[in-house]
Formats: sequence, structure tokens, C-alpha cells
Amino acid sequence: MKRVLMAVFKQEVGSFNPQPTCYDDFEIRRGTALIDDLRGTNTSTDGVIEVFSEHGAIEMVPTYAAWARVCNGLVVQADLDRLIDELLAEVGKTENIDGACICMHGAMAGEAEGDPEGRVLAGIRAHIGDAPMVVNFDLHGVFSDRMVDAADAMVLLHTYPHVDMRSTGRRSARVLLDIMEDGAKPTSARVQIPLLARGDQLITATGKFGEAMEICQKIEASEGGLAAGVNIGNPFTDTPDLRSNIFVTTDGDPERAEREALRLARFMWTHRALFVADLTPLEAAVRLAEETAGLTVFSDAADATASGASGDSNAILHGLLDYNYAKKALVPLVDAPAVAAAHAAGVGATLTLPLGGSLDKGRFTPLELEVYVQTLSDGQFTYEGGLPAEGGRSAVLIHGSLAILATERSVFSTGLRLFRAHGLEPTECDLVVCKSPNGFRIHYGDLAARIVAVDVPGSTSANLKTLPYAQCPRPIFPLDEGVVAPFPLED
Ligand SMILES: [Zn+2]
Repeated sequence: MKRVLMAVFKQEVGSFNPQPTCYDDFEIRRGTALIDDLRGTNTSTDGVIEVFSEHGAIEMVPTYAAWARVCNGLVVQADLDRLIDELLAEVGKTENIDGACICMHGAMAGEAEGDPEGRVLAGIRAHIGDAPMVVNFDLHGVFSDRMVDAADAMVLLHTYPHVDMRSTGRRSARVLLDIMEDGAKPTSARVQIPLLARGDQLITATGKFGEAMEICQKIEASEGGLAAGVNIGNPFTDTPDLRSNIFVTTDGDPERAEREALRLARFMWTHRALFVADLTPLEAAVRLAEETAGLTVFSDAADATASGASGDSNAILHGLLDYNYAKKALVPLVDAPAVAAAHAAGVGATLTLPLGGSLDKGRFTPLELEVYVQTLSDGQFTYEGGLPAEGGRSAVLIHGSLAILATERSVFSTGLRLFRAHGLEPTECDLVVCKSPNGFRIHYGDLAARIVAVDVPGSTSANLKTLPYAQCPRPIFPLDEGVVAPFPLED
């Protein structure tokens, strides 16, 4: 039996969120618990487990899994060091490893370490020697030379919003089997693109980005095409490696890998003007919601908890009040002090609270509002994808026609279960605010009569020029004018 080392190391950091990520924000699993607890979840790891289980003659060697329940700011350095040391310590206990299949997001960053994934992959490489290593990633990862050098192949998601986590895990496991069992000789090409992409055209089912994904899928389906992906970075993970990348891996054909990677890079660069977000000013957004029959969804990408924001923005709440929105609306808000006050007052109480701005104090000022405490809860629920949410205690606070779902900690604001777990039914409302740029479309796309991407401030604003970049390599599109592609645009 061939022995395959497995590890999971996932988080997406928002460098402009002042709220740090701590060790306790991670779920940790060691040894077989990695398989037991991730089997059956909608994750890349489950896809890896499926392929090796179906194979029957692969011995999975699960070592360590760390995945963040939330995406906050930079990981506290001592906590990041602890995570990496723990992971590599478990890896160090293994022996006779024939291959490694690693599951990562790619956009983690610590206070003093911009490339945690590179450190992990280099550490695994040092332990397993020349054994093949395939790593699967989100397409929003940030890639260093150290990561690229350590892995034999990078396998990236092909959908956005992301629905192909499991199949991406499966693709990565199959590439590893191709190398280990069928003698494939992976040769990889990487083309770096000075591009930060946002906006609707990234939606792969309908947008221009989908055409790039089709090219990738054709490469992977072709003879000798092992992996092809377009990485667009996470524009909020401000590190020296932030940019877009093309990765193509072929079986022993470096010239083709280079050629296909260059073709994809040219495609992304040629269409770069499409990959800029088209945002609607707040007042206009409120007017659109008023005139819409049926459900309107506001995308607050600027406070996207899944992109690394703090979730405590009250900008849209402010706008709904300022512009006298009178229909039924659901607004999520991370606000531990408000939840504490509501729990102290009890169900049925009416009290005046400062709402929002408890975390990202430089961007948001608390809004004093009289609210009625409708329900209180321990906040435990399971996301649509099967993983548990841990937003801590919660409270439903009513102000006129507005229902504010306040949670103590950050939760992903993409699906309907967030609201339903708290007795709120999004489909019976006129407006739902999702703190998400696109992920919510999987759940709301068929339900919404109108979706509006609202231009409000926030640490993950799609209006990238509003963000205080300090480390990202410059010049880069669209932050700078006149950026020149570092590769030939024609043969
Ligand atoms: Zn992503």
C-alpha cells in the first residue's frame, strides 16, 4: 500500500481588518480525526478522502488539520507559529511516505509572516524528500515562490462563487495518483499577472472569468494536461506576493505548460477592465430596494466576513435609516457588546444601544438605536456546507421594519441558515443584507428579484483604491495607471 500524507491548513486573512485572528479561531484535528470529521463535508478534503477510499490500496496518513472558523485580520504571530509548529510536528512523526496531498486556502498571513503556507509546504517537503506533493487551493490564494517550489502541482478551484470544493479535492488526489502510480512527470509553469480582480464578471457561470475556467478545464481534460488554474489572489491579503497567477502542469511537456499558462495570462490581462467592481451608491441602492417587488439582496462586499472583514459595519444600517427605508429588512451585524446588553435585558425588553463599530473603530462609528429584543440564542447552527458556525451568542433586535441579527463573533454571511437558525425567514423579507461579494449568490441567486452591490466603506471594499495597501507589489492594476504586462502579449 502506498502511504499518502494528508494535512489541512486553511484561512483567508483580511490585512485591513484590525481584529486579529487567534489560535482559538481555528478548528484543529489530529490524526484520524482529520478524516472522521471532514468526511462528508463539502470540502476539498472530503474529495481527497473519497478518491483514496475508492482506490482501495492507498493508506491515508492524516497528520494535522487547522481551518479557521472565521476570516479575521492578520494571525497573531505567536499563534501562527504555534499552528505551523504543531502541524510540522505531526508531519515529523510520519515515515515511509510515498506522496502528499495537502488542502489549503492560500491566503493566510501572520503579523510578521506573509507566507505561512510557504513555510508549511517547505517544511513538509523537507520531511518527505522527493515524494510527490500535490496541493489544492482556493482560487483566492496568495502564492509565494516558496509554495510554488515545494509543490509538484497546484490544483485550484474552478468556480466562483465556489461550488467545486469536493471535486477540486478529487482532482488533486487524482493528479497525485497519476504521478505515484502511472508515472506522470509533472512539469509546471507559472505566469504572474499584476492584477487584482473584483466584480460580477468573476462569476464563473455568467462572467468573462468563466471562459478562462473553461480553458483550464479543457487543458485538464486533454491528454497530458494534469492541472490548470487561474489564481486571482485575495485583494485584502496585503503581502509582497499579492497578485494574480496562472498555474499549468503538464505531464512531461514544459513547453506546452508555458504556452498554455501564457495564453491564460493574456486572456486575463486583455479583459482586465472587466474585472473591476461596478458598485451602486448607498442612497441609489436603497431607492432600488424600495421600488423592487420581491426580494432584494444587498451585497456588502466591504464588510465580507468570508473575505476577512470584521462584520461590524453599520454603514448599510445607517443608510436604511437615513433614507427612510420602510420595508422589511434583515441586517446581520457582529456586535458582542450589543448581544451582551440584549441578553442582560432579556426577551421582550426595549433598550437603546450603540450598534456597529465595536471592532473596526477607525471605519465605523456606533449608531444609537432603540431596539426591541425579539429572540436570544446560543448562536449554534450549521452552515449549508455542513460545517458548524460559531458566532457565539446572538440576539434578534427589532427597530421598526428592520431585524438586526447581532452575533458575538464573526460568521459567514452567505446562506439562509444564518437567519433561519434565529427564527428569521429571508424569503418573507423585502431586503436581506449579505456581507459577502459573491458567495451568497449560490443561496440567493434564484430567490432574489434584484441583487445590488453597494458602495460602502469597509476593510474588504471592492472599491480597491479606498484600501491602505502597504506591501502589495506596485504597480498593479487597477490601483495604478499605465501598468504594463510583464509578459509578451503576442507571440
Ligand atoms: Zn475564494
